[in-house]
Amino acid sequence: MDKKDICSYTYSELQEEMKSFGEKSFRAGQIYEWLHVKLAEDFDEMTNLAKDFRKRLKEEYEIRRLTLRERQISRKDPTEKYLFELWDGNLVESVLMRYSYGNSVCISSQAGCRMGCRFCASAIGGLIRNLSASEMLGQIYRIQKLIGERISNIVVMGTGEPLDNYDNFLKFIHMISDEHGLHISQRNITASTCGIVPNMRRLAREGLQITLALSLHGSTQEKRRKLMPVANKYELSEVLDACGYYFQETGRRVTFEYSLVQGVNDSKEDAKELIRMLGGKNCHLNLIPVNQIKEREFRKPCRKNILEFKNKLEHHKINVTIRRERGSDIDGACGQLRRRHTASKKEN
Ligand code: SAH
Repeated sequence: MDKKDICSYTYSELQEEMKSFGEKSFRAGQIYEWLHVKLAEDFDEMTNLAKDFRKRLKEEYEIRRLTLRERQISRKDPTEKYLFELWDGNLVESVLMRYSYGNSVCISSQAGCRMGCRFCASAIGGLIRNLSASEMLGQIYRIQKLIGERISNIVVMGTGEPLDNYDNFLKFIHMISDEHGLHISQRNITASTCGIVPNMRRLAREGLQITLALSLHGSTQEKRRKLMPVANKYELSEVLDACGYYFQETGRRVTFEYSLVQGVNDSKEDAKELIRMLGGKNCHLNLIPVNQIKEREFRKPCRKNILEFKNKLEHHKINVTIRRERGSDIDGACGQLRRRHTASKKEN
């Protein structure tokens, strides 16, 4: 029988688990601290637990940590990219970005993705499987241990669609912000969705303080549909209503992400549509010059056009930024490192 993944139990679940294991519930507090604060990788590190208790734990549970397969350090900016192997051999990638305000990690929420966005490298091989809460936590823990510094900010913008893995994602948010664990403030966490409307609404009611980012990418329903198959299921108007609802319920301003693709969504008309859509709304628009991937034709507009696009929106008082391109020399972002590995595995 498979051993149980002990890092996927929340604090209260672990207390229950220890009770049914015949142990006092305070033991759960000790174990939780070893796993989620001291980031132990082996039960034998838990020296304040009796040896025979550790032995019984080992028989029943396992600590599934991630194995580092590759680490790329950018020469251009303080960005590092990691490729991790999960216990079953699947690969996920994470990115560390160092900022003046602290260390930020971008994590993956699934191995692969089934959303099929046309410009995205993660979509190419489809979905392999959901990540467990402990595998999402594990990316942060592994990086924190490797660099020996605290991680203070998290973006769930790596491979996968967090709202397509709702329960594990929600558990992850609770665990990473739990005061018994790393206790990262929910206000320092952003999760990005392609717009799964029912789950956006559900998330709005969870009483969280995380920032929701919506991948918009098209200025109209028609344009969005061409880039993002999920738009066939949920109309742009419904998605925008769900964003409004998220703001209303949580008081958290929604971020809109717009990947600029030359000749596809960067025209004057697009800027006008965006002004119509977002003008007067309390939101933030992040323009992302599209990351070119070798399997796709999409190109980013030239710098001048990107700035013109931004200026038009700013002129109408839309709060807009251009995403700084980080780590462009290390397979940038968006599933390209994992993609290179899985593709070369297949070719071998
Ligand atoms: N599934 C989620 C989060 C993962 S992707 C979502 O769709 O939001 C994080 C962001 O990167 C999304 O806005 C996504 O559309 C964008 N993205 C993916 N591939 C990209 C590329 N090649 N260039 C620029 N942005 C990309």
